[in-house]
Amino acid sequence: LRRVLGASGSTQISSTARAFSSAPAPIIATLFPGDGIGPEIAESVKQVFQAAEVPIEWEEHYVGDQIDPRTQSFLTWESLESVRRNRVGLKGPMATPVGKGHRSLNLTLRKELNLYANVRPCYSLPGYKTRYDNVNLITIRENTEGEYSGLEHQVVRGVVESLKIITRQASLRVAEYAFHYAKTHGRERVSAIHKANIMQKTDGLFLKCCREVAEKYPEITYEEVVIDNCCMMLVKNPALFDVLVMPNLYGDIISDLCAGLVGGLGLTPSCNIGEAGIALAEAVHGSAPDIAGKNLANPTALLLSAVTMLRHLELYDKAERIQDAILNTIAEGKYRTADLGGSSSTTDFTKAICGHL
Ligand code: NAD
Repeated sequence: LRRVLGASGSTQISSTARAFSSAPAPIIATLFPGDGIGPEIAESVKQVFQAAEVPIEWEEHYVGDQIDPRTQSFLTWESLESVRRNRVGLKGPMATPVGKGHRSLNLTLRKELNLYANVRPCYSLPGYKTRYDNVNLITIRENTEGEYSGLEHQVVRGVVESLKIITRQASLRVAEYAFHYAKTHGRERVSAIHKANIMQKTDGLFLKCCREVAEKYPEITYEEVVIDNCCMMLVKNPALFDVLVMPNLYGDIISDLCAGLVGGLGLTPSCNIGEAGIALAEAVHGSAPDIAGKNLANPTALLLSAVTMLRHLELYDKAERIQDAILNTIAEGKYRTADLGGSSSTTDFTKAICGHL
C-alpha cells in the first residue's frame, strides 16, 4: 500500500515542506468543503486530523453565491489566491449544473491553478472483499485540456460543436509526470490509453508525446492500449495494469471504472498536481446529491486524499497513522457506511476511525 500512496510522486512540494519544517507555526492548508456531501466529509477530515494532532490549520473557502468576474465562476479570486499562497489544499466535491450555467468550478480550479496532472491511486482494500483482491494501479489524467477545454458553441440551430484541444506541451508534461511517478514509486509499466485510430490528430499527438518521453525511461515498459479494449481488460483482469496515463475525458471515465473495481467511489482518493509545487487533493467522487445532508456519505475517499496531502508535506508519521486507522476500521467491519454494505453514519464511522488512531 505504501508503494501506492507513498509520496504521490511529487518532488515539487518538497521545498514547500522544507520551508515549513523549520517554522514553529502550524502549516496552513486551503480547504474547500464543497457542495452536497462535501461539508459532511470535510468535517470528518477535520475531526480525524484533530484527533491525530496533525499540525495543520485550515483556511476554509466556500463557493460564492455569485459569479466572480475575475474567475468567471462562483469560485472567488480570494480562494484561488489562498491555494497559490499555501501551495497545498484539500477540496470537497463541487457540483456543476448539466448543460447550462456557469463555468465549471472544477475546470476553473484546474485551469487557473494549472493543475496539469490528476493522480488517482486505486487498490484493493485489505479486509474488504470485492470481485478482485489484486487491484493496484494508478491512473494519471491530463487535467487541463482535451474535451474539457470548455470550448463549446452552437454552429447553427440544431448543430453544436465542442472542441477537443490537445497540445504538445500539456501532453509532454503529463507523460513526463507519469514516467517520473512510475520510476520513483517502483512501478514497472506505463500504459498510454487512447483512441488514436479514430481521433488521429488529437490522440495521435498525445501518443507521439508519450513515445518521446518513454524513450527517456528505458527501465519502464511502455505500451499503448485503445480505450475500449482497456475497459474490457480492466474489467476482466485489472492486474494487467500498473500506471495508466491518458487524456482528460478518458481519465475521468476510466478512474470511475477503476473505483468500481475496488468497492466504489467512496473509497478512491486523488491529488491534483500543479506547477510551482501546488498540490490540491480531492476525492474522485462528486457531490452525491442523492445522499447529501443525510449523514450517510463515506468519508474514506476524502480522508485518503487528505493523507496524500500529508505525504506531500512530508508528514509521513501522521499520514501512516491516519491511513492505518481508516483501513483497520474498514477491515474490522464493525463500522462501515452504507456504500460498503454497512449501516454506520458518517459521524459514527469517523468516530470509529478516531478510535483506531
Ligand atoms: P457522484 O460521484 O456525486 O455520485 C455517484 C454515485 O456515487 C451516487 O449514487 C452517490 O451517492 C455515490 N457516492 C459518491 N460519493 C460517495 C461517498 N463518498 N459515499 C457514498 N456514496 C457516494 O456523481 P454524480 O451524481 O454524477 O455527480 C453529482 C455532482 O457532482 C455533479 O454536479 C457533478 O458535476 C459533480 N462532480 C464533481 C466532481 C468534483 O468536484 N471533482 C467530480 C464528479 C462529479
